[in-house]
Amino acid sequence: TYDIHIIGGGLAGSEAAWQLARRGFKVRLSEMRGTGERSPAHQTDNLAELVCSNSLRSDDHEKNAVGLLHHEMRLCGSLIMTAAEKARVPAGSALAVDREVFSGAIEQALTALPNLTLVRERIDVLPEAGLTIVATGPLTAAALASSIGAATGADSLAFFDAIAPIVYRESINMDVAWMASRWDKGAEASIALGGDGRDYINCPMTRDQYLAFREEILAGEKGEFKEWEANTPYFDGCMPIEVMAERGVDTLRFGPMKPVGLDNPHWATPEHPNGRWPHAVVQLRQDNTLGTIWNMVGFQTKLKYAEQQRIFRTIPGLENAEFARFGGLHRNTFLNSPTLLDRQLRLKNAPHVRFAGQITGCEGYVESAAVGMMAGIMAALELSGKSWETPPRTSALGALLAHITGDAEAETYQPMNINFGLFPPLHDVKKKQRKEAYTERAKADLAAWLPLVVV
Ligand code: FAD
Repeated sequence: TYDIHIIGGGLAGSEAAWQLARRGFKVRLSEMRGTGERSPAHQTDNLAELVCSNSLRSDDHEKNAVGLLHHEMRLCGSLIMTAAEKARVPAGSALAVDREVFSGAIEQALTALPNLTLVRERIDVLPEAGLTIVATGPLTAAALASSIGAATGADSLAFFDAIAPIVYRESINMDVAWMASRWDKGAEASIALGGDGRDYINCPMTRDQYLAFREEILAGEKGEFKEWEANTPYFDGCMPIEVMAERGVDTLRFGPMKPVGLDNPHWATPEHPNGRWPHAVVQLRQDNTLGTIWNMVGFQTKLKYAEQQRIFRTIPGLENAEFARFGGLHRNTFLNSPTLLDRQLRLKNAPHVRFAGQITGCEGYVESAAVGMMAGIMAALELSGKSWETPPRTSALGALLAHITGDAEAETYQPMNINFGLFPPLHDVKKKQRKEAYTERAKADLAAWLPLVVV
């Protein structure tokens, strides 16, 4: 018998198991690798395998959001962070690791805990009872994915991430772009949500600018599909912009770049006091409740990141755009967490099941481990009959959790790395000092919360 069943021994599952077992709870950790089966990306049977890069990204906790997350995880006794320290290889200010040493340290620490049982088995059905953490990652095995789909009402959880780039609001040039909703529609709904009826940021293009932009998209360098991605369908309405651009000169202009109903006030004349419709428009939609990050509507793409930065900065109003994330298209399995999970990562209609890791819609090794860590601590407190206090919204842990469990827009929910756009904004601080201000505030606020969770 065990107190909790953790499914998936990746970054999130290993960290959750550690947090529970070191607090004395009996853990069954089920990992499919080791049974002869692996996801298409995994190459070993090691726990917490890093499937691609060997970097946990920046370790700078004074100016960088992921570095701050490292720092906060260390303070919470994270196994992933301890193992990373042991496995560290030189990589400037980044925390890069020897992946074998890293996985080895994690497996050794976990199997040394007498109350943890590691079972090499594949789980095909979501358990109907008993405290459970599902941490099966972006490539969750098919049978379990359909069981999760049935429990959550989703037809299928495996599809192409149609990821549109996300831009920091403060980097958009509003002397060129303007706020408006098409045909001024939806004012009532907007006002009910605290808006003023002008919900989109619109970036205007003349005909020449549009034609040049389309040429750039067609010529831009694209990423390749992986073998196992070959037969995964596109979601309806999530065609990459380069595929649309190939279909015809005006396909984009009749699709995501439609200008109709969008008078550009910057182009107002005595004859047209409200302005004119541009030849094409790029629209951005608010992506979090804070209003700090905005997604480029319909701009999912497989253009390489450097190409996205170069080409999208030719869009009027986005000359200096800073990207919170770039667009992408790859197979992924993740829940629409803002609608399905409660603030403690529990499935609203089956609260004995918690989710952790990339399947919740965070993105990245560190973020997955951080969410696993929080899920483990939440479950441990639940088992002890204690209550969970959410980490401060101003900390990296709090910002990440808030994004997953409620702040993000459910309709456009996409996997997200930690970034300062997820933190409550500090408008009064000068831009140059803002990163330090975010991390200083986070550290000060987290100090009061830490004693509630540290063992
Ligand atoms: P995983 O680490 O994938 O762990 C899930 C575990 O569950 C696996 O061990 C799997 O074998 C097991 N499992 C699955 N189904 C079952 C089942 N039914 N029963 C039992 N066990 C099961 N992030 C980065 O930061 N840097 C990168 O370079 C990077 N590259 C990536 C490349 C690819 C191809 C992909 C798909 C993702 C990449 N990511 C990267 C994103 C992400 O951070 C990683 O996928 C990360 O490993 C997610 O952690 P996780 O714990 O949620 O899932």
